[in-house]
Amino acid sequence: MKEKQKTYYVITFGCQMNYSDSDRLDVLLENNGLSRAKSELTADLVVINSCSVRQMAEDRTYGKIAKLAKQKKRPRIVATGCLVSDKIWQKLLGKDKFDLYLPVDQMIELPKYLKKWKLIGQLSIDKYEHYLDIVPRSDQKFSAYIPIMTGCNNFCSYCAVPYTRGREVSRKKKDILKEVGKLVEDGCIELTLLGQNVNSYGNDWYGGKNKNDFVDLLKKISDRKKLKRIFFISSHPKDMSDDLIKLVVSRDNLCNYIHLPLQAGDNEILQKMNRKYTREEYLKLARKIKKWIPEVVITTDAIVGFPGETKEQFEKSVDIFRKVQFDMAYIGEYSPRPKTAASKLDDNVAREEKKRRKRVLNDVLEENNLKKNHELNGKKLTVLFNKYFKGKLIGHTEGLKQVHVEGAKKYVGELVLVKIKKGLKWGLEGRIW
Ligand code: SF4
Repeated sequence: MKEKQKTYYVITFGCQMNYSDSDRLDVLLENNGLSRAKSELTADLVVINSCSVRQMAEDRTYGKIAKLAKQKKRPRIVATGCLVSDKIWQKLLGKDKFDLYLPVDQMIELPKYLKKWKLIGQLSIDKYEHYLDIVPRSDQKFSAYIPIMTGCNNFCSYCAVPYTRGREVSRKKKDILKEVGKLVEDGCIELTLLGQNVNSYGNDWYGGKNKNDFVDLLKKISDRKKLKRIFFISSHPKDMSDDLIKLVVSRDNLCNYIHLPLQAGDNEILQKMNRKYTREEYLKLARKIKKWIPEVVITTDAIVGFPGETKEQFEKSVDIFRKVQFDMAYIGEYSPRPKTAASKLDDNVAREEKKRRKRVLNDVLEENNLKKNHELNGKKLTVLFNKYFKGKLIGHTEGLKQVHVEGAKKYVGELVLVKIKKGLKWGLEGRIW
C-alpha cells in the first residue's frame, strides 16, 4: 500500500521579512515531498518562524512550542527565525520540547533532517546555494515581496538582528531581476523589496565603495513598466542618499512612500542606541524628502523607555512626531534583547511609564492621521484592492493607507480610482469612481 504523504505547517511571527521567508520554506518543503496541512494540529512537521523584536513576541513563540509539545500526536517541531540561539531554546524550553533549531539562512539543510526523521523518502534534486535563491509561490499574483538582502551590519544597541540573521548579505542583482521578471510575467503589478537595511543593498559585495548600488537596482526594476507600484522597506536614515530620493521623484512606479525609522528624538539616546545620526540630521532629511516629494507618506519606528531615557528626553521624540507628522508609526516599549549592547544597561524606565509614553506617541499619531485623512475627503486616489468580504473591498493607496469601499469581488487585484468620502483615524472610506 502506498504510504500517506506527510504534511507540514509553518507558523510565522513578526515582520514581512519573516512571512517572505516562510513562503520560501513552503516551496522547500513541498519540493521535498511534503504537503501543507490544514492546521498545526494535524501536521507531521511544524516549523515556527520566530520573532525577537520584543520580549512579548518571544514569549508567544515559547508558548506556542510548549502547547505543540503537549499535543497527543506530537509533530516534529523545528524552530527558526529571529531568536538568538539554540542554547536559549534549550535553556528555556528543554530539549525534549522541540527537535531542531535551524537559523533561517541554514534552512536549505532542513530536508536532510526530514529524511532522517523518515518524513520523506528522498531529497529533492533542487539544489540551492542560499535560501534566498528559492523562488516562492504567491497566492496573490498581483502583489509580491522580494527580499533583496538580509542581515545587518549596524549593531543598533537594542537590536538582535545582527546576532540572529548575521551580517548583511545582498542577493545578486541578476537573480533579483530574474525573479522580478518572472513575477511580472505572472501578472505582478505591485512589488515590495525587503531587507533589514534595504538602502545599503550591495555594500557587502562592493566593500561599501559603491553607495549607489541600490539606486541602480531600483532603476532597473522600475524600468519594467508593467510594475505599477514599487515599495522598499526598511531604509536606514544614514543610507538615504539624494540620488535615491531623486529617483523616487522621477519614476512614476516608485511609490511616494518612505519608511524612515526614527527610534528616538534625543541625541544622547540616539547615540546610546548607536543610530549614527542626530535629531537635527533626521529632521533635515525628513524636511528634504517632504520638499522633494510633496505627496510623500513617511512612516517610522520608535522605541520608548530605552535605558536611562528621561521624561525630558522622551519629549524630544514627541517633538519630532509633531514636526514630521508621520502617517504611521510602529511604537515599541523597550525590552532587553539577548546579546545586545543595551542589554547590559539598567532597564530602569518603569513598565507603567513605558506604557504612558507609548500612549502619548500614539495620541500624537492619531491626531496627525485624522487631520491628514480629513484633508483627503473628496480626493480621487488610485487603490489596489487585495481583499473582498461580503460586498466590501479592502485595498491600499500608494501611501499604504487602507481604503474600504462597497464593490464587487472582480476588483480584487485591480488598480481602481476611488473617491474618498470619509477620512478616519486609521484609514479611508470611499466609493469606486
Ligand atoms: S539597522 Fe539597527 S535596528 Fe535595523 S536591523 Fe540593523 S541593527 Fe537592527
